[in-house]
Amino acid sequence: MNLSRTVCTVHPERPAAARCPKCRQFFCSSCVTEHEGRLTCASCIARSGSPEPSLAALATGVGRSGGTRLIPLLQILAGIALAWAVSWFMGRLITSIPSDFHDGTRWETHRRR
Ligand SMILES: [Zn+2]
Ligand SMILES: [Zn+2]
Repeated sequence: MNLSRTVCTVHPERPAAARCPKCRQFFCSSCVTEHEGRLTCASCIARSGSPEPSLAALATGVGRSGGTRLIPLLQILAGIALAWAVSWFMGRLITSIPSDFHDGTRWETHRRR
């Protein structure tokens, strides 16, 4: 295997440093990452679904057709979290109001001019 004549698939101006065992394409040293003891390209790591899906894998997946559905899922999760936070806050607000209403004297002093 003569790597000196091979160039990186992503960077044609750079000489290839390793060959990805999954897609069998050549990549430079900055394109490959050691994954499970093997030098694998970033796109293959993102595609294979690594044990810990990092933000970098998420970012590379955004540009691909398969990764775009991650964005609506995140929006739904953010919406649920926001709705839960609002309902929790409103629940706290409502439960705190009756104590003020029952306190007649304090209510009277507030309204007096
Ligand atoms: Zn690959
Ligand atoms: Zn490269």
